[in-house]
Amino acid sequence: MYSAPFEYTRANSVAEALSIVSQNENAKLLAGGHSLIPALKLRLSQPALLVDIGGIKELKGISVSGNTLSIGALTTHAEIAASKDVQTHCPALAAACGNVGDPQVRNWGTLGGNLAHADPSSDPPTVMVACGATIHVQGSSGSRSIAAENFFEDLFVTALRSDEIITRVEIPSMAGMKTSYAKMAHPASRYAVVGVAVALQMDGGTVKSARVAIGGATPKAMRASGAEQALTGSSLDAAALDNAAKALAADIGDDAMGDIYASADYRKTVAGAYLKKAIKAL
Ligand SMILES: Cc1cc2nc3c(=O)[nH]c(=O)nc-3n(C[C@H](O)[C@H](O)[C@H](O)COP(=O)(O)OP(=O)(O)OC[C@H]3O[C@@H](n4cnc5c(N)ncnc54)[C@H](O)[C@@H]3O)c2cc1C
Repeated sequence: MYSAPFEYTRANSVAEALSIVSQNENAKLLAGGHSLIPALKLRLSQPALLVDIGGIKELKGISVSGNTLSIGALTTHAEIAASKDVQTHCPALAAACGNVGDPQVRNWGTLGGNLAHADPSSDPPTVMVACGATIHVQGSSGSRSIAAENFFEDLFVTALRSDEIITRVEIPSMAGMKTSYAKMAHPASRYAVVGVAVALQMDGGTVKSARVAIGGATPKAMRASGAEQALTGSSLDAAALDNAAKALAADIGDDAMGDIYASADYRKTVAGAYLKKAIKAL
């Protein structure tokens, strides 16, 4: 399969990329290419110009400042999975990125590209929502910071405007919390049929506060407030986990998606099992 013809150019800075995009209406940013190239080949996307941002140094890297973990948009899944900082401050993200696709995908695919593409079966968005991440974007008319919960709007739809670039993601340190991510991976692509991310603040053996997010089963990664309430105040005993699993199915409700791989009902049911897996992994 061949893409429609397009022009190609490289940007060496965010400012240059923004300037090119603002002057070319049908331009698209190219990062790792692992979602865009398949879309071009399927002719789901037919940009006139690809702006390669892969060499922009200011978009790369991982750092910690105070209680905040900061990850540049061009950081690859493999770099995130291997980072000691991510393993310490957001272990669920390290686990999620370590299980994205296969080594080729992890070595080329970037966090920014993954979030901008907003595939409902992606792993990082679910962790971003559970961990209260903020997505920083820059556009020709200025910068914005968008809470992950508000960033994902629908199937492949985000709050990102066509003239904006994701520059970095900030995650409050989860070092004092317990976080984990569990997914039912599609056997071929490894995309999440269902993915559940959990962040728990414990007070001894009791859950002081809980954040739960679901992906794969729904058009966008979303918080599961019923499951969060069911876990809060519990000691994570079997009855509490059963209640939380039921509450998660209710949270998903009519948003459950079905396709050739798994029906909506199956996804809704299996989500509870993966919530339990995520909690047991803690
Ligand atoms: C075989 C296969 C298996 C996969 N399995 C998984 C999986 O198990 N879990 C998972 O989560 N993902 C999976 N992926 C997707 C992978 O994670 C990609 O990294 C990700 O979807 C896109 O990142 P990219 O850097 O390749 O972006 P690209 O393909 O280059 O770009 C994707 C989109 O994002 C836009 N974009 C890129 N960077 C930015 C930016 N900084 N700011 C604004 N817009 C930007 C582009 O214009 C394009 O629209 C898989 C992909 C493949 C091919």
